Amino acid sequence: MLNIAIIGHVDHGKSTLIGRLLYDTNSLPKEKLEEIKRTCEELGVEMEFAYVIDALEEERKNRMTIETSQVFFRSKKRDYAIIDAPGHKEFIKNMVTGVSQADAAILIVDVKEGVKEQTKRHAYLAKLLGIGEVIVAINKMDLVNYDRNAFERVREEVLDYLRKIGLKAKFVIPISAYYGDNVAKKSEKMDWYKGLTLLEALDRLEKRSKGFDFRFIVQDEFRLDGETIYLGNVIAGEVKRGEIVKRFPEGDEVLIKKIFYGERGVEKAKKPLAVGIIADKKLRRGNVLAKGEAKVRKKIEALVFCLLNEIKEGNEYLLKCMTQESLCKIEKVFEKIDVENLERKEGKRIREIEIGRVLISLDEPLAFENFKDLPEMGRFVLIEKGKIIAGGILTNLK
Ligand code: GDP
Repeated sequence: MLNIAIIGHVDHGKSTLIGRLLYDTNSLPKEKLEEIKRTCEELGVEMEFAYVIDALEEERKNRMTIETSQVFFRSKKRDYAIIDAPGHKEFIKNMVTGVSQADAAILIVDVKEGVKEQTKRHAYLAKLLGIGEVIVAINKMDLVNYDRNAFERVREEVLDYLRKIGLKAKFVIPISAYYGDNVAKKSEKMDWYKGLTLLEALDRLEKRSKGFDFRFIVQDEFRLDGETIYLGNVIAGEVKRGEIVKRFPEGDEVLIKKIFYGERGVEKAKKPLAVGIIADKKLRRGNVLAKGEAKVRKKIEALVFCLLNEIKEGNEYLLKCMTQESLCKIEKVFEKIDVENLERKEGKRIREIEIGRVLISLDEPLAFENFKDLPEMGRFVLIEKGKIIAGGILTNLK
């Protein structure tokens, strides 16, 4: 499964592209399609792509949680989950606090409008969040008669900006999300374009975190027949029964005596399974079991994204990184970054929807990784009175 974020300026075609991808890969739920067909028949109109989008849009509005705002589709090669970027703030929030983590992004740009404010913001955020590669989709080619020059012009404009922020465009593809040109099917209207379709390009992308060694986070425990079973998720690698691993932040060794998948005893556990483990010593919620060393820290430098109120030196929060928790304090605000013009700003207060680089000191040491290596252990939230005030990511842990 590859997670992709679709980013770009409002009205440049994000929702339409999502609808088109689902439609052309036959990934729409059957009931949904039936429902749309029925509606169209009742209205005496032909089943049009526009209705599909409207229906999806409706669906999206009705869903509340971050988890279910994901949609899925499948190519011949693999499954995809789309993380939509409805707005600037939601995007940051989803990316930082979300269960979903984008491996790559599609940056969509309207060929008639070119690079706009949110094109820049989203691209820059993607870069900050450690997304290494983007596919640029120059959309609405039908509106310019599939003209090559129009495409080239916008292509240069986008690449110019991406170069400035150091983000690599792996592919730049002329599409019409509305008519489906070069999305899942090669367009007959753009002979001059010899490259891949969007779907083919997606299939060429690679997952971000590969080959990280075993990491397991303890979420919960329960007693069964006099033994304690620790429940949690394997977020990287695998472990076998009988292996000795390390427990963090303590740093001591732990023997994996038994592994359970559901009720069943199993020989090994692999990412991304939720499993139960019986160990030779008492563990606790928030413990990280690992092969190799985890990066245990009491002070961290991080990028923080303020979502509510403001962040300033001296403020205290509860920091949560998966099930790890510690009280913490903002020691220093180094700088703020204006996402609009990318300028670094002086100032000690990071306000709502601003980004800053800070030093945080923790009461208890916790285990981390850099966000780009292992997103689950490289992102955290700062909480005050039960509310998420900010999300943060670690980008330069040594
Ligand atoms: P979003 O705000 O980025 O999600 O943009 P939408 O997907 O809602 O699209 C905005 C408008 O552009 C809608 O009216 C779409 O029908 C239209 N649109 C999207 N893609 C295309 C396209 O490829 N060609 C044309 N002509 N219109 C499009």
